[in-house]
Amino acid sequence: MGKFLSWVVLIALGYLAFRLVAISQRKRDAARRAADARREQAGAGASAAGKVTGEMMVQCAHCGVFLPASDAFVDGDRSYCDRAHRDADRAEQRRA
Ligand SMILES: [Zn+2]
Repeated sequence: MGKFLSWVVLIALGYLAFRLVAISQRKRDAARRAADARREQAGAGASAAGKVTGEMMVQCAHCGVFLPASDAFVDGDRSYCDRAHRDADRAEQRRA
């Protein structure tokens, strides 16, 4: 009886694992399809409007790296990739 139960548990676990893999695969496929659709839509919108959509990029005034404007630390008319670079640039300007 104990052996039979352990087989039942083993089969149930195997089925569960199979289901989990199938579900995660379906989710990944759905996410990829949604991303593709969004990209196509954005591409169609951009060509229809005749302009490129997307986030503006800014350049760090200290090290020169480009980054999305929403990630930048802005200080007046200057943008920085990092708080440390903003502080370093401020210190440099104070010295100059
Ligand atoms: Zn920087």
